[in-house]
Amino acid sequence: MEKTLRPEPRKGVMDIAAYVPGKSTAAAGVEKIHKLSSNENPLGASPAAKEAVRRITETMEFYPDGAATRLRTAIAERHGLNPANIICSNGSDEVIGLLTQTYLNPGDEGIFTEHGFLVYKIYIQAAGGVPIVARESRETADVDAILAAVTPRTKIVFIANPNNPTGTYLPLEEVRRLHAGLPGNVLLVIDAAYAEYVRRNDYEAGIELVSSAENVVMTRTFSKIHGLGGMRIGWAYGPAQVVDALNRVRAPFNVNAAAIEAGVAAMGDRGHVERTVLHNEKWLSWLSEEFRKLGLRVTPSVANFLLIHFPEDIKHSAAAADDYLLARGYILRRVGAYGFPNALRMTVGSEEANRGVVAALTEFLKD
Ligand SMILES: *Cc1c(COP(=O)(O)O)cnc(C)c1O
Repeated sequence: MEKTLRPEPRKGVMDIAAYVPGKSTAAAGVEKIHKLSSNENPLGASPAAKEAVRRITETMEFYPDGAATRLRTAIAERHGLNPANIICSNGSDEVIGLLTQTYLNPGDEGIFTEHGFLVYKIYIQAAGGVPIVARESRETADVDAILAAVTPRTKIVFIANPNNPTGTYLPLEEVRRLHAGLPGNVLLVIDAAYAEYVRRNDYEAGIELVSSAENVVMTRTFSKIHGLGGMRIGWAYGPAQVVDALNRVRAPFNVNAAAIEAGVAAMGDRGHVERTVLHNEKWLSWLSEEFRKLGLRVTPSVANFLLIHFPEDIKHSAAAADDYLLARGYILRRVGAYGFPNALRMTVGSEEANRGVVAALTEFLKD
């Protein structure tokens, strides 16, 4: 037998740049750490969700309901949807992966935008597809550029609305125009991970479009406003044929029992969501204003994070600011991989964290 023979990953797998999550540790010796790198909820999870997870430990020898029926029903009731059009997943990342696996043949193209969420690229490549980047204008998805990138090989288009890491969004009219310009065989995926945070009259998460089209899917998550990132719960709302196809491809028990219970409880706790929205509204605008006063450009955000742009001089670069903040326990997110080599993304945190970052950056910019 040939000694040099070894298993080889499928074509394209070794071209994938593995996802780099936000850091969770700061410099050694720092007393208190404020993790502002992954857009988590500074108020934590709903107390009801915590209690639900405690309860499930008594019965964890049992397999979960593979169809996550109680969770789909809770989501459906909350959003006025038909539970048959909902699929739950192990974080919304999983359902994004299922969509590419299900709708891309090797060589098919998947489109996402210049500063779009990097998970789309990873899953397009993992499915053997070809990632196509559409340019943005003013750090916002550009409908004309996306439509111009469509070819006969295009099978899927991803937009995050609002987008991470920019926090910018497309108004409903623009999303409609995008959909109207796509051929019927192209699946439009609207990733609305931050929908609950948006306070704009011209925004719609995607429910309306999904309900009136055969080729639109909306994805959502419990990781952001519901404060359940560690539990891994996502869901998608789509046409019956899409949900049917995804259900054939997914793992039979993709959402675990604790996640189902936590998700049902979180859906029922509207007060927690409202408190989180109010906290975010207050501090998002406060932070934007404070950074502007410091002379730092901030991309206008409708989500729970801000993209902060740093000056050109090396001494005050994003990398230098990141080191400075890390040494003081503030963990922000570097976004070079998203086409922003001189910016940091900051999650809106607790009052203490927000004031702390502004105070630290004030000092940092002084000398
Ligand atoms: C955080 C985030 C998600 C959510 O991912 P989960 O797998 O549900 O934790 C999805 N899309 C975008 C754009 C995000 O920023």
